[in-house]
Amino acid sequence: MVNWLVEYQQQFSHLLKQQKLPHAILLQGLAGSGKQALATWLTQLLHCQSPHYHQSEKVYSACQQCKHCLLYQQKNYPDHQVIKSDKNTIGVDEIRQISHFLEKKAQLGLNKTVIVADAQKMTIAAANALLKTLEEPTNNSTIILLTADAASLLPTVISRCRVLTITPPVGRELLTNKEQSVDLYINISQLPELNDKAIAQEFVHFTQTFIKYFRYQQDFDTLVTLLAENPHSYRWFEKILTNLLRFHSGWEINQSLFTPEELAWLTALAQEKWWKTYQLLLNTNKQIKQLNQVNKQFISEKLLLDCASIMQEK
Ligand SMILES: [Zn+2]
Repeated sequence: MVNWLVEYQQQFSHLLKQQKLPHAILLQGLAGSGKQALATWLTQLLHCQSPHYHQSEKVYSACQQCKHCLLYQQKNYPDHQVIKSDKNTIGVDEIRQISHFLEKKAQLGLNKTVIVADAQKMTIAAANALLKTLEEPTNNSTIILLTADAASLLPTVISRCRVLTITPPVGRELLTNKEQSVDLYINISQLPELNDKAIAQEFVHFTQTFIKYFRYQQDFDTLVTLLAENPHSYRWFEKILTNLLRFHSGWEINQSLFTPEELAWLTALAQEKWWKTYQLLLNTNKQIKQLNQVNKQFISEKLLLDCASIMQEK
């Protein structure tokens, strides 16, 4: 188990000790963050006949020797199911099958567990079917949803789960974990879609356009189009702003995105301006979420014009 998962194991161990483990858990984390390993550890633990509590680490572990552990390791444990789809979607039938499985009595132990990998692949119908199961949990059942991107799940599903976001260490801290075969590149930004090289390129382009607009008020139209049409752009906007705010508070940022000149400009600009811009963006995000039919073009234009006035304030 990679070392940054220990704190999450501690949280779950604490909940188990208090018998307060939630029925539904949503683990969010990038590929390589270890969410699958964490879910496997937890579900095996729930089935183990003689789990061990490590006082010093405050973490439970499964014994790996009992009948249940052996069956689990062989992927033959009857009261545990994993939904992992190779297709683009997880359909309603797969989710109904989980519901039936959970309604039945456990065959061996007391608990029943389900892991749904890539939960964002659920179709709307599947997600709605899952909702029913989440609303009426059966005794001693635990559902763990895994996703790289909780934002693409139905809010009603999210609200019925205990959400845990696994954030692997970044920057210097990450380098010390390098031997644990983590892809350095993907973890730096914490944005799941940037695993895709083509989208990562778009992100670089977006960042450059962003700088050009905020610094020189150029490329207004390009930036509006990106905001209105690129589904990731608002999150990227938010990401850039949080990075700049962190940068102003002494955090490291990915400097390769900026020229030395741009960095000097970023440093010289008052943090207050980025803070105001950030607040503005959050409000705009709220508007976008609240309206059903939103004119993204118009809202993006307004946002950028308001940002420009913040930049020009004395
Ligand atoms: Zn065991």
